[in-house]
Formats: sequence, structure tokens, C-alpha cells
Amino acid sequence: MKYCRFQLNGEAHYGLVAPVAGRESIFRILLTPPEESDGDIEGLRSRRIDPIPLEEAHLLTPVRPSKIVCVGRNYREHVKELGHEVPPEPTLFLKPNSALLGPGGTVRRPKISQRVDYEGELCVVVGKTCYHLAEDEDVHPYILGYTCLNDVTARDLQIKDGQWTRAKSFDTFCPVGPVVADGLDPWTGVGVETRVNGEVRQLGNTRDFIFPLDLVIRHIAQCMTLFPGDLIATGTPEGVGPVVAGDVMEVTVEGVGTLRNPVVDE
Ligand code: MG
Repeated sequence: MKYCRFQLNGEAHYGLVAPVAGRESIFRILLTPPEESDGDIEGLRSRRIDPIPLEEAHLLTPVRPSKIVCVGRNYREHVKELGHEVPPEPTLFLKPNSALLGPGGTVRRPKISQRVDYEGELCVVVGKTCYHLAEDEDVHPYILGYTCLNDVTARDLQIKDGQWTRAKSFDTFCPVGPVVADGLDPWTGVGVETRVNGEVRQLGNTRDFIFPLDLVIRHIAQCMTLFPGDLIATGTPEGVGPVVAGDVMEVTVEGVGTLRNPVVDE
């Protein structure tokens, strides 16, 4: 199952997505937000529409989270490339909702940064309120699905500030989408690929996570309540690097699709 959020006749809707005549298309409008589905999206009331090919739809961010929780260092090779030690437990930080950007939206490089990097990531969409999980509790019921996220980062400010809030939080620094998909298994391995102007820069797989997803979710929920629709960015593989105005970034998560965003100078 896949769903998206899109604009039609000036209004935002959620839509179910499936191949129609060989093209991924929106074929039903959901009458209840998927975040309120308690996991059963296909059981939600919906109405049929003339199929709209995904490429022709005006896509919006597929979720409206209460917060975006990110894991800082979750791939060994990426930790090495930035010259850090493998952390003993997941490093968490937040991105503000004001940084959210939809598929196709333009990322703005702020004037005060000389180096803005892409970070392609698999992103979890929370499906059920989650707080203080038991040690042996299965996390699957809390996952609604997965999407692509680009954890855009002002690398120079991250180093200069000694903490990450400003570097990670500029408006447009959190592209998400294009759809939310289920049926992925990050525990056995999901490919995460980032391209800039069509050239492959990151080629990772979630089987190389330092911290498996159940540990990450349990670790976050030990601290804060996760609500339906909240996002968890699971960390980026090695190969991060800068972009400049005119570049086009693409993050592909196997089983989800491709999130494409051009870059301009502010
Ligand atoms: Mg990241």
C-alpha cells in the first residue's frame, strides 16, 4: 500500500497510490487522514477518482507530523567519514516542522552558510501513539509506513555551533516524500540511494544500521511520546557532500520511490 498527499482544485487531499496502466497513479481519495487509521489505511473510507499519474500530481509532504526526530550517526562508514567515534547509543536531534518541504520543492541555501550538504535517509512514519515500550515489545504495530527524507545540513554551521539545531533547521531543510509505503523491511535491508544531477553519491542499505530500528524507536519513546504521523529519520549512509545552486538532489528508498528537490541560493 502507498499513499500521498496532494493538491487538487486548491484543496489538500490524501490519495491511495497504485499502478494504473503501468504508471503509479492516485486512484482514490482518502476521506480520513491516514494518521487516524490506527494502521488500517485500506480500511478507511475513500472515494474513487479518475487516476492521476503521480508525476502529474501536485504532491505535498505526505504527512503532517507533530515533530521530526532524527538519528545522527547510524551507519558505521558515515561516522568514519566525519571522523567521529561509533556512539554507544543513538544520537538524537530534532528538526522543526517549519523546515518541511514537499516533493519537487526548492531547497534554499542560506547566505550565512558556505556548505550545505544532502543526507539521504529512510524515514519512518509513526502510526500509533508510542511511549515507554516494554523491552520485548514488537515495534511493528507503531509503524504506519516509510518514506524518503533529505536531512539537509549546513555542515559549516554544525561544526561552528558545536550543536546541531541551527545547521539542521533552516526553512526547506527537510524535504519528505513522495509517498508513504508499507511492506518494507529495514531489518533485512532496504536500499537508500542519493544522486546529485543524476550522479550517485550515496549508496547505502539499512542492513548496515548501527542501531536497528526497534532499538531506535524504543530509545526515542523512552524520552518522548511519538504521535501518529511523527517522522523518524534513521540516519544517512556514507557519501555526504555539498550542493550548490542549480543542483538537483534525488533520494531513492527502495520500495518507496524518489524524492527530487532542486537547490537555489537564498
Ligand atoms: Mg542525518
